[in-house]
Amino acid sequence: MTISLFDIFKIGIGPSSSHTVGPMKAAGEFVRVLGASGGLDQVRRITVELFGSLALTGIGHGTDTALILGLAGAAPETVDPDDVVRIVTLVSSTATLPLGGGASVAFERNADIIMRGDELLPRHVNGMRFSALGGDGSNLHTAIYYSIGGGFIVGEEDGSEDESAEVAVEFPYPFKSSADLLLMGMVANIPIAEVALANEQALRSADEVRDGLRRIWRVMSDSIARGMSATGNLPGPLDVPRRAGTIHKTLRERVRQGQSGPLEVLDWVNLFAIAVNEENAAGGRVVTAPTNGAAGIIPAVISYFERFCEGSDEAGIFTFLLTAGAIGGLYKENASISGAEMGCQGEVGVACSMAAAGLAAALGATNRQIENAAEIGMEHNLGLTCDPVGGLVQIPCIERNAMGAVKAINAATIALEGDGSHVVPLDTVIETMRQTGVDMQSKYKETSRGGLAVNLVDC
Ligand code: SF4
Repeated sequence: MTISLFDIFKIGIGPSSSHTVGPMKAAGEFVRVLGASGGLDQVRRITVELFGSLALTGIGHGTDTALILGLAGAAPETVDPDDVVRIVTLVSSTATLPLGGGASVAFERNADIIMRGDELLPRHVNGMRFSALGGDGSNLHTAIYYSIGGGFIVGEEDGSEDESAEVAVEFPYPFKSSADLLLMGMVANIPIAEVALANEQALRSADEVRDGLRRIWRVMSDSIARGMSATGNLPGPLDVPRRAGTIHKTLRERVRQGQSGPLEVLDWVNLFAIAVNEENAAGGRVVTAPTNGAAGIIPAVISYFERFCEGSDEAGIFTFLLTAGAIGGLYKENASISGAEMGCQGEVGVACSMAAAGLAAALGATNRQIENAAEIGMEHNLGLTCDPVGGLVQIPCIERNAMGAVKAINAATIALEGDGSHVVPLDTVIETMRQTGVDMQSKYKETSRGGLAVNLVDC
């Protein structure tokens, strides 16, 4: 199986791919199936039960909002972030919901979204059970979905993943491991980006791939721009101030005065990552890369490439995205990109690894150097826990993206200084991440029951 680049990089809204984008898609899918069965007209009420991590951190991650939007017919890629409050307020104030955007059914946000944090459904820690009820309270239809990270969902009944997460087509280079990827690149004498491009063109035309890559980068750079111009505090009880606007002003002023310090490049990389993740925390439009919590790392490193690396151009950005997408697919296929399964090593760690590989590729690295960069990017994130304070994707998530971006640039730099030979293969570090994630206690896996989430008091 090979995963499409456009499933790794999905356009959506914040703050979480597993807790916002996935549940919104699942809610939309539930309504779609209900409509296809001809049962929509009989529905009078909808209930949703959330299990495990979705229940424990769902409020802070906007899961309730996402469910309302999805049930009301909105999709993550197209919903206007400015419409979200209006739709949710309307549903809350009328205690009704326009099912699939059509007829209204009863829906009370607090009563009909039921949190079952101490229970788990069998297949994954992020389970959801949707029920459609008739006028006499009888159950017309029930369906279970799992949000398995990065905005991917899987249904209980058929076990198949959504969209083309794992696509059943003949790929010219069907790699399952980094060893496969390196071998195929070597035999065909092409870089990893061309392997990924050839596979992507088995699914869509060359023009569609190019347009899609352009769109991904446009949404990423827009999220940086919006983050840098926003002011005020982020939503939620922590009252975290948005910093990107102030940092941007300071940096621009320094440039104007010709004062560049020794860490100026670092300042800009930090700014780009913080801007995206503040936008994500505010529920704005971002690209999962490979998740929302880690959405700032790849845009920050591409911006670094664009702004500070000689010879950078659009072709280089495409090479970056194609390479990073191929590496992200390896983690998705052989481990997981879900914080609820792997801790933050599966989100920020994977994004760092992808960005390191992408940057190395854009700077002309060999395939062995690219694989080395990806390996370094993960090796030094192994064991990273997920402990979001207050269940919000803010602390430590926002700054953690800045740290991840800087680490990715360093990983690519170290790899480019060598000739590609290294001791630990990328496949080994992916398997190590998987085992570490399995061994990690659940309190460190997006439950807000351990780490900073319990040691930072008065939040
Ligand atoms: S700590 Fe990491 S994995 Fe957890 S919500 Fe934040 S970014 Fe995601």
